[in-house]
Formats: sequence, C-alpha cells, structure tokens
Amino acid sequence: MTTTMQASVWHGPHQVRLESVPRPAAGPGQVLIQVAYAGICGTDQMIYQGLHPRARAPLIMSHEFVGTVVTSDDPQFQAGQPVAINPLLSCGACSACRRGLAFICEHLGLVGIDTDGGLAQFCSVPQHTVRPLPPGLPLVEAALIEPLAVAVHAVHASDLRVGDLTAVLGAGPVGILTAQMARLAGARRVLVSEVSPKRLEIAQALGLETVDATKDDPIRAIMEMTAGEGVPVVFETAGVQTTLDQATRAARVQGQILQVGMPKRVPQIDITGLQFREISRKPIRVYREADFDLAGALAADHTLNLTLPVTHVLPLAEVERGILLAHEASEACKVLISPEQV
Ligand SMILES: [Zn+2]
Ligand SMILES: [Zn+2]
Repeated sequence: MTTTMQASVWHGPHQVRLESVPRPAAGPGQVLIQVAYAGICGTDQMIYQGLHPRARAPLIMSHEFVGTVVTSDDPQFQAGQPVAINPLLSCGACSACRRGLAFICEHLGLVGIDTDGGLAQFCSVPQHTVRPLPPGLPLVEAALIEPLAVAVHAVHASDLRVGDLTAVLGAGPVGILTAQMARLAGARRVLVSEVSPKRLEIAQALGLETVDATKDDPIRAIMEMTAGEGVPVVFETAGVQTTLDQATRAARVQGQILQVGMPKRVPQIDITGLQFREISRKPIRVYREADFDLAGALAADHTLNLTLPVTHVLPLAEVERGILLAHEASEACKVLISPEQV
C-alpha cells in the first residue's frame, strides 16, 4: 500500500492543481520533511507562467520552506526537529564549484525548481540542504530565512559603509528585507520606493522612509536626500525596466548598483549612463552558505522583523490564488502556503 499526500502540482503554463500523490520516502542520504510553511517567490510566478527555462512539469514548486523532520538514515536528524531548507544544489565539479563558488555553480539547481519542493505535505530533500532551527523560533518567521539570505548576500556584496545614505528600489519581500539589512549594516537613511500601497504600508510600519512611485519621482526624492549627488549604493530589487533605469540615475558618480531583482524578460540597460559616471552594476543571484547561516541566526535572534512582510498564509488548495496575489502585488507582499491546511 502506498501512502499518499496532498500536493499542489504544476502541470504547465497557468495550470496548478491540488492532487493526491504518493508520499516520498527518505531514500539514502535524504531527509523526509513535513512541510509547515512554503513561500511563493518571483521564480514560482515565472514557473507558473511557463517562463522559467529549467522547470519541467509535473513539478511541486517552492524552494523557500521550513518544517519538521519525519525520518532520515542520519541519526543527527531527530523526528520532530524544526528545520529550514537551503535549496541550492551544486554539482561539485564545475569550475565555479572548484573555485569555492558553489552558490553560483554552472549547473546550479534548486529544490523546488529542479526537484520537487515545498508545496506539499511532505518533501524529501538531500541531507546537506537541511539546517536545524532553534526550538523557540516560530516556523512562520523561519520561512523568510531563504529570501533573507538573498538580502544578506546583497548587502555583504555591496560597498555600503556605516553612515551611508542608500536607496532600495522595490519593496517586495526581498526589498523589505534588504532595506532592513542595509539599516542593520549601518546605513544612516534608507529610502524605499514602491508602487504597491500594501508594500509601502509595510515599509512605513518598519520605520523606513518611503516614496510612493505612483505619485512622486523616486529620483527626485533620492536627489533631495543626497543634495543632488545620488546614493553611493542602490539596491534594485524589483527587476522591472522602470526600476532598472532608475537605478542608473539614482547612483552617484562611481556608485554601485546591486542588481537583486530578477527580470522576467531580457531588460535594456543604459550602458552609456553607467560608463559616463563610472557606475558599477553588481548582479546578485542567490547566497553563500554563510549568508544563509547568518540569515538563520538573524531570524533566531529576532534582529529583523520577519512578521510584517508576510501578508498572507493560505492553505495548500489556494496556491494559484497565492501566486496571483503575489504577482499582482497591490495587496500582498510575502505569501506563504501552509500545507498543514488543505
Ligand atoms: Zn526565491
Ligand atoms: Zn558546479
């Protein structure tokens, strides 16, 4: 008799269905996780729309998930232990991996994109992806460790210095986390621009300075803040053409743009605009191991607010609604799915 579980399965563009599927087993070197919360990311929206180059249907999406251990052949994983998943799957053999850059492995895969992920009651993952969590940390907050790791990596990779002025273009989950992280890293003022009223409200509730880009010009606000100079470091976290263009104009001479937002289509970049003022543009893909670990420690210590960015916790049956809410963005920031509720 096969045991079954409920899973939200992607079958191709705009097709996601709640189904009863065989429950995975913890094979050798694997850990079976009971999923508590799984986040919906921009990447999941791309997969849903059929725009992701690697995802193949049928697939259980979500690379941002936390839960508890069910079984494993490794005695260090005890049943019931709360864990987060670092979803990166590197090959260990390519030139990037050999140079200690496994996080940008030339064949990088992710649990939830290249293998089944967290939008199910259970998920079996390689032991090396499992990160134990401290018992007191609410799993709903731990669900933000993965996107927080991106924010940690972006700020660590930046030239931001204590006392700097900075700007974050886009207040989606990663934007909100990056802005909090920049403040923690010592930025004296962090200006966040955004178009979604809900996301602006969250940024304001966190005490961040905001510009409603539907009413005001973010560049004007940035120039006002910096006496016409521009900011030394700007974080582009929306990945849309408007903010990609704004980033070039927001940076000061020899400033730096951290390209965190993942454009859904090939964007246009004003190379001359960068060249004339010697602005550098640094792309950010995911995070190093140490960034993920620091994100876990920041969550455990409640250093940053990981509650306010979560606007929705939906049952497994409402994955499609969650994807559309996150995509539309006007009323949503981070959407989490709770597979414990079907
Ligand atoms: Zn993600
Ligand atoms: Zn590799």
